[in-house]
Amino acid sequence: MRDMTAEQVDARLSGVARLAAEVGVDAVLVTPGPDMRYLTGYDAVPLERLTCLIVTDGGGAHLVVPRLELLAAEASPAGHLPMHPWTETDDPYDLVASLLPDASVVALDNHMWAEKVLRLRRAMPDSVQTLAGDLLDRMRIVKTPDERDALARAGEAIDRVHAQVASLLRPGRTEREVAANIADLIIAEGHVRVDFVIVASGPNGASPHHEVSDRVLERGDAVVVDIGGTMPDGYRSDCTRTYALGDPGTDFLSRYAVLQRAQEAAVSAVRPGLTCAAVDSTARDLLAAEGLGDLFLHRTGHGIGLETHEAPYIVQGNDLPLEVGMAFSVEPGFYLEGRFGARIEDIVIVDHDGARVLNRQTRDLVIV
Ligand code: ZN
Ligand code: ZN
Repeated sequence: MRDMTAEQVDARLSGVARLAAEVGVDAVLVTPGPDMRYLTGYDAVPLERLTCLIVTDGGGAHLVVPRLELLAAEASPAGHLPMHPWTETDDPYDLVASLLPDASVVALDNHMWAEKVLRLRRAMPDSVQTLAGDLLDRMRIVKTPDERDALARAGEAIDRVHAQVASLLRPGRTEREVAANIADLIIAEGHVRVDFVIVASGPNGASPHHEVSDRVLERGDAVVVDIGGTMPDGYRSDCTRTYALGDPGTDFLSRYAVLQRAQEAAVSAVRPGLTCAAVDSTARDLLAAEGLGDLFLHRTGHGIGLETHEAPYIVQGNDLPLEVGMAFSVEPGFYLEGRFGARIEDIVIVDHDGARVLNRQTRDLVIV
């Protein structure tokens, strides 16, 4: 994806301003992180020195930046915004307050450091602080065509990694050794950062978020490999496949067949208008009907974009209807303590007539 243009930045900032006005927020304050990158294209590093984007409900936008970050900010897609540099002896929180003399409600990005939240509160004692997450999610939850393509490229990159995983799995190697090879491949295939590598073999597979250990792979193990990274444009990949070293046994194989059907059914159910909860139910009911309901320990999926976990969450109780452009994972699994686990995960994007599936590697159990 190309860098955002000034017009795109302005369009996103006007969008935030409009939503802020709608919900009675006078200003939205955003520190470095995915929200700032989404709104301005500026991929600032979160540091102790305050960098803060201010968007007012009237549509004004300002960037408060440490003097030593000024050149980087100016060179970014946010370079056309009014800049307010501060030097080492200035108080940047007072600077923010001086730009918002009349703000009674300020919304802060959900990931702002507590230190910054409290210092802003001290500098603006008459303003009520609230979270900007809901407001920003309303924009970020529906991906633009550019963002959809970026996620598709991330999907292709992680697929190329999975295509090489089977060759790394051999009895006698440890999970940690395999994971180190996978991390190298995640970078080699086009990501700029490894976000996570889960290699959960044998009984470790029963812990959904087991990462790696020094356990030695054995013949007969099922191995859950859940991996993801960040592409140069900031968009993320996340894909799980389950492998087996030789024959994992009929107890495993019969359950895996059910899981594969449940995952496929949930993906096939995706369409505009269906609720997030209904996608979860599709997978969950099918697993429950085969006696695996209690072994499916987590929600069916999570949104993905500039963060690996973001809205929408595919979970019971979330009655949000799907819209064209929403992107999320479909990743049911089963986890049998002391024995084994399995998960199948694809990223999908809601399209007019169903799901656009971004991961293409086989969902069959890969026996090596
Ligand atoms: Zn995953
Ligand atoms: Zn996931």
